[in-house]
Amino acid sequence: MPFSLDNIDIALLESLIKDGRKSFRQISREIKVTTPTVKARYERLVNIGLIKAVSPVLDLGMLENRTSTKLDHIRSKAIKGHEIKLDKNMFVRMSCDYCKGPVHEKPSILKFANLERFFCCTSCRTLYKEKYKGRIESLSN
Ligand SMILES: [Zn+2]
Repeated sequence: MPFSLDNIDIALLESLIKDGRKSFRQISREIKVTTPTVKARYERLVNIGLIKAVSPVLDLGMLENRTSTKLDHIRSKAIKGHEIKLDKNMFVRMSCDYCKGPVHEKPSILKFANLERFFCCTSCRTLYKEKYKGRIESLSN
């Protein structure tokens, strides 16, 4: 059965290519079709095999190795070969969404809508919540 893409399919694909983490609802708002339509189109594109996978795009600059701090050679290799070997000695270098300081093993997490924000401590989380109260509330509705 031949399958041709229409404007909705193309808008959906372009949106997902830019950022595959988006929910159907976010895409629906972005491309202005209903959520069930987005879901149906997405499933169809998967079923027909055009969308083979939605894979994450990593910020390789965030990865450091516990044993050696220099990952530069891995990074340059990764950029060239488009692949990186992930291992347990690596960790994701995160910074606090409030004070921008380093976030250690156990971040303080704030969840709203389908977002998560990470903080170095509970007071940063509280301060962030205060600062962005309006935005968090509007996104949660
Ligand atoms: Zn902080």
